[in-house]
Amino acid sequence: MKNLFSVVFTLIATTAFSQGVRCGTVFSGKLDELFISHAPVSRSVITIPVVFHIVWRDSSDNIPDARITSQLDVLNTDFRALNDQLKYLSSAKRSLAADMEIEFCLAAVDPQGIPTTGILRYKSEVENIGTQNTPTIPSKAFIKHKNLGGADAWDTQRYLNIWVGKFQDGAILAESKFPWDNLPEEDGIRIDPAYVGVNCNGSPKKQFALGRTLTHEVGHYLGLLHPWSADCATGDYVEDTPPQRCPYYGCMPQVMDDACGSVPLVENFMQFSDDACLALFTHGQKERVYQMLLQYRPLLLNNNISCFKPTFADRLTEDNVRIYPNPTSHCISIDLRLNRESDIKVEIFDTSGKLIWKDVVKVLLLRPIELSFTQSGIYFIRLTGNENTLVRKVVVM
Ligand SMILES: [Zn+2]
Repeated sequence: MKNLFSVVFTLIATTAFSQGVRCGTVFSGKLDELFISHAPVSRSVITIPVVFHIVWRDSSDNIPDARITSQLDVLNTDFRALNDQLKYLSSAKRSLAADMEIEFCLAAVDPQGIPTTGILRYKSEVENIGTQNTPTIPSKAFIKHKNLGGADAWDTQRYLNIWVGKFQDGAILAESKFPWDNLPEEDGIRIDPAYVGVNCNGSPKKQFALGRTLTHEVGHYLGLLHPWSADCATGDYVEDTPPQRCPYYGCMPQVMDDACGSVPLVENFMQFSDDACLALFTHGQKERVYQMLLQYRPLLLNNNISCFKPTFADRLTEDNVRIYPNPTSHCISIDLRLNRESDIKVEIFDTSGKLIWKDVVKVLLLRPIELSFTQSGIYFIRLTGNENTLVRKVVVM
């Protein structure tokens, strides 16, 4: 029983060396002239309003709101350099990590000013709508057009549009447009529903179950490239990302790229490494993104679209603790919305009242606790901290 539970990021690390192609974003830009040298800049935190268009044919692809909010949590912790993985990096690598000073929220008003939840759902009869394109040049993605069975974009200068729709099996997981692509009706990101948010129960590729596919794609949306190039020189045109000749998969922090004579930063979000091993954007990438926002997406820097702000509380209460999914097949996320760093004791009991696992977890803003169960049954999770205690029953099938 000793190893009945473990935090998911260590569990998923065992999938190192498994392979998968994360991303279908293709760079077809103007190379050098896009990326002039950038002076460091300082600015305040910006918030980008997001709308999710969920276009589904099978009800299993009509993913619940909880997956969307867990995705926003992942984006916000990754772009604010608050994620757990940073703790496991060497101090040298950790010093490369930048707080991107970008946050994401669900839009609270639509382009006409009408209140919305920022999560829109559409039934469609088109099979594999996420990967269907017209044969025209440039092609149109079916999922991004109402008359092709999908959903039209909201004003792409003021909203980040994310379309969620089934991808053909074996295809890539997601795809983004770059800021300079200049295709307003297509601008944004499309992604397979299995890779939205934390989905450790249902993701067919467990190494991509922690919501970092969208962190990667939003990087493209904001002007970042993959860091590899055959010449070991150009790469992503960012100075503080080491050169590498090809993508790396799994979790290989010590890998040496012999062709380029360097150690790649495989923990960079723009790599193809497993979700559990991705940890950071660099300061150079932060500068690039800000320049891209100024040049191509200025209305994201200065927009007045209101958004839903998650509420935080001092104490553990029924309202600010979310445990999902429940019932579950093997893993559970505990989402605590506390307004200060807190030490939370997590205890798990079986139905006889016997304590079978416990730990104290430091909880930051929006950081979920992930638990993995290897045995089915009914359990009670007790959370203690910030002058309160909560008990929840969970069913593992
Ligand atoms: Zn990519």
